[in-house]
Amino acid sequence: MPDPALTVPAAFRCAVCGGTEVARATERGDGVRVLFCAGCDMGVVEHRPATTAQFYTDDYYHRVEGGAHGYDDYEFTAEHALLWVKLLIEALAPGGGAILDIGCATGFLLRRLEGVWRRHGIETNQAAAAIAADSGVEIIGTDVLAPGFAAAHAGAFDIITSIATFEHVLDIKQAVAASMAMLAPTGVLILELPLISETRDNSNWYNGSYEHIFYPTVRGIEALFAGLPGVRFQGFETATAGFSSTYIGAATRDPARFATLAGLFAAMTAEDPTALSDDAARLNLAYAVVHDFRPTPARILRLPVLLERHFTPNLGRRLAQLWYEDAVRAAASDWNAAQARSVEAALEALKAGLPDRPTRKPHPLRRFFAWTGR
Ligand SMILES: [Zn+2]
Repeated sequence: MPDPALTVPAAFRCAVCGGTEVARATERGDGVRVLFCAGCDMGVVEHRPATTAQFYTDDYYHRVEGGAHGYDDYEFTAEHALLWVKLLIEALAPGGGAILDIGCATGFLLRRLEGVWRRHGIETNQAAAAIAADSGVEIIGTDVLAPGFAAAHAGAFDIITSIATFEHVLDIKQAVAASMAMLAPTGVLILELPLISETRDNSNWYNGSYEHIFYPTVRGIEALFAGLPGVRFQGFETATAGFSSTYIGAATRDPARFATLAGLFAAMTAEDPTALSDDAARLNLAYAVVHDFRPTPARILRLPVLLERHFTPNLGRRLAQLWYEDAVRAAASDWNAAQARSVEAALEALKAGLPDRPTRKPHPLRRFFAWTGR
């Protein structure tokens, strides 16, 4: 029910369901109000700008100290934010295919895919797009909502990814519909959105990232896909330690692909990866440990299967950060101290299991322990 004390502009019209009533509003750190639709619960800034290009100037991917928009260190963020996406794509299409990454930035995700891929990107920022193009990505546009764009690429892609991009567009429903139109019949759209959670702290989303236009809730996201004929959608809220939630989801028209996705999402979110296949365990660790920062002794004991394939210095840096934060938390409470001890014990068990004799190529775990100062 709308809040009777809420004053809203007479012109409010929800981009997702067409509703004209606002249920509630929240003020961001910069004073801009976010209005939540009474019909579908999608959140949107009170005044949508006419264009968004002003947000994505060249310092967006390499933020100036104290700037309000963008990423502090894009490559580092991308490395741990996108590993699960890479593994999910490779599980869905082991041989490759045609892929479009909406908001591809410097092509980080596309460059890292294994297999034979025709790599396409949409990118607003020209400097980032030029780097992507140099690395073999065909940049096919700057805006998924450009007139005629979706029609020109109808049915063209096996995979479309939209990772932290749909919240930036001027019309989220049109962006989703355009993406679905560009998928091949068995194609899959993989997305991640910032989530206004019902149960977790949302302050990261309200006190930064002021270029965001949409503030999705679970109900709002479900409404977004419910209106598309023949489209099946599933997803889940992430619970990133120390950060507000995101929502990871996937959509397809193909029932078999939908079932495959359900299995892959179950592997990603499994509490205990011990019994999973190596590939499923890698997906679990890329999501739960590298993305979500939630190590458990069972996950740490399976880390070798991830590190032997996917170790990079940035991943080492991310994991070192993780253990440092764990240690800081451990100082704060007995429960966390016990948790940290079991993590510590699992790490020691891993280290004890390393081969004694030096090998031609350093074992990835040795590099990891070197990074974490062990
Ligand atoms: Zn609505």
